[in-house]
Amino acid sequence: MKKLLGLREEARRLFSPGTIWYHIKGRWIWDDISVSREKVNWHRIVWFPVHIPKFSLISWMVFLNRFPTKDRLARFGLITETDCVVCGSGLESRDHLFTGYFFAKEVWRTILASCGIRYDMQSWDECLSWLVVNLKGKSLRVQILKLAWTGFLYYIWEERNHRCFRGHSRSAGTVVYRIKEAVKIKLYRNCIHRIDDANRFMFTNWGLI
Ligand SMILES: [Zn+2]
Repeated sequence: MKKLLGLREEARRLFSPGTIWYHIKGRWIWDDISVSREKVNWHRIVWFPVHIPKFSLISWMVFLNRFPTKDRLARFGLITETDCVVCGSGLESRDHLFTGYFFAKEVWRTILASCGIRYDMQSWDECLSWLVVNLKGKSLRVQILKLAWTGFLYYIWEERNHRCFRGHSRSAGTVVYRIKEAVKIKLYRNCIHRIDDANRFMFTNWGLI
C-alpha cells in the first residue's frame, strides 16, 4: 500500500501539465517543462489572449530548449549522427534549426516583410532580444507577430520532422503560406482592431479584409 501511494505521487508529478514525454528509440523519457512566468521575460510572447494552443505549446518547449534536437539526443548518447536534416550541414541544435540557416531565415524574413519590417535574424539570442523589445502592446501588428512567431517555430519543427521521417520537403514559400493562413483564420474571428490608416497595410497583407 505504501508503495502504491508512493507511486501515486510519482504519477501525479509525471503526468502534470508541466511534463512532456518523448518516445525515443523504443523507450519513453520525460522532461519537466514547468517554469514560473516570473522567471522568464518571454512568457507573454508565447502565451497571450488570442494564442493558438498547439503553436504555443511547441514554442514553449523551443524557448526552454527542451526539444529532442539531435545535439541533445547525442548528449544523452541516443544518436551519433547530428547533421541538420533541413540544410544538410551544421549541428542540429535549437539555435541552428530555428535561426541558423537560410531556410528558417528566409521564412522569418518574409513574415516580417509582410508586417513592413526589414530585419535579418542572426542568432537565437539576438532574435529573442528583438522579440522581447518589439512585441509589446496590443496593436494588430504585435498580435500578428506573436501568432506568426509561434507559428514559425511550429512549422519549422514540423518541416524538420517531415524531412526526417517522411522524406519530403516543402519550400520556404509554402511554410510562409501555412503560417499566414493559420494567423488569418485565428484573427478573422477574433480581431478586435478597426481598420485605420495606420494598420490598413496589415489588414491587406494578411488577408483580414
Ligand atoms: Zn541546418
